[in-house]
Amino acid sequence: MKIFNEYILIDSPSDMSQYVGRFAPSPSGPLHFGSLVTALASYLQAKSQQGRWLLRIEDIDPPREIKGASKNILRCLEAHHLFWDEDVTYQSTRSALYEQTLHGLMEQGHTYACQCTRAELSELANGNVCGCAESPSLTQNTAIKFKHLDPILEFQDGLLGTQTFDKSAIPAQFSLKRKDGLYAYQLAVVVDDIQQGITEVARGADLLDATVFQLALYKALQVSAPSFMHFPVVVTSSGKKLSKQNHAKAIDVKQVNHNLCDALAFLGMTVPKSCRTETPQNIIAWAVERWDLRQITAKTARIDNRIGGLDSI
Ligand code: GLU
Repeated sequence: MKIFNEYILIDSPSDMSQYVGRFAPSPSGPLHFGSLVTALASYLQAKSQQGRWLLRIEDIDPPREIKGASKNILRCLEAHHLFWDEDVTYQSTRSALYEQTLHGLMEQGHTYACQCTRAELSELANGNVCGCAESPSLTQNTAIKFKHLDPILEFQDGLLGTQTFDKSAIPAQFSLKRKDGLYAYQLAVVVDDIQQGITEVARGADLLDATVFQLALYKALQVSAPSFMHFPVVVTSSGKKLSKQNHAKAIDVKQVNHNLCDALAFLGMTVPKSCRTETPQNIIAWAVERWDLRQITAKTARIDNRIGGLDSI
């Protein structure tokens, strides 16, 4: 299938009637319990609907990449019997697609070149675009920003229901290409989700706010957005998201059964003790059959940022 719009042609291999989900880790470290929960939840969400589950390694930010992390993530998923469909997609190989899309957005007047530092931008009141937008001749040391003047303030989350945002909390610009020449997360993730024919983005609730920025890009590209669903994230005792940045412990692949059972329990499933001695294959098959979003209750923690600091993803 091909998606056409005025200025961009994106090959989309999927048949939109079939569920296509994905897990899209950044190789900034090995999988930890929180990322295993997200991987498992998105897998179960896809497989319980006879869908496809794709794996995309989001390696567009070499300075944040840890050597060997991509391979490690793949081996860890396999050990947990989380097998993806199709070949793994690596964002580092897709610059041409990002550039093509960026050019389309530029031509349509959705962007401007910006020289501001992050600190300067953070001083700007939300809703205001910086002065760079009025200086079309800037070429040196610039980032390409999206003019986010008309944000989408509401969307339906498949798990959390209607999500509403306050316009005053939303920056009037965000990066598509950084000053260092690297493509920004928001651009790459939207281009890939479109190109891979993703029908539902099922990921951690730490990315709930990012959805606002991504919906703006779908609108500008004139492509219908997929559905969005944000799972609870695992937090530390001080309430911070378990992450590679706060040195979350790497998953121990010698404890696959326990990891899977703990992750299922975190997602609200009542896991029988006998599951702990089952093969990973049987645990996964058991969970696919019983997967029910209603089991994920509010008691499981959820991060609620409501916009801020997303440019670093
Ligand atoms: N690469 C992002 C991360 O590892 C996830 C992106 C997404 O699921 O949209 O946090």
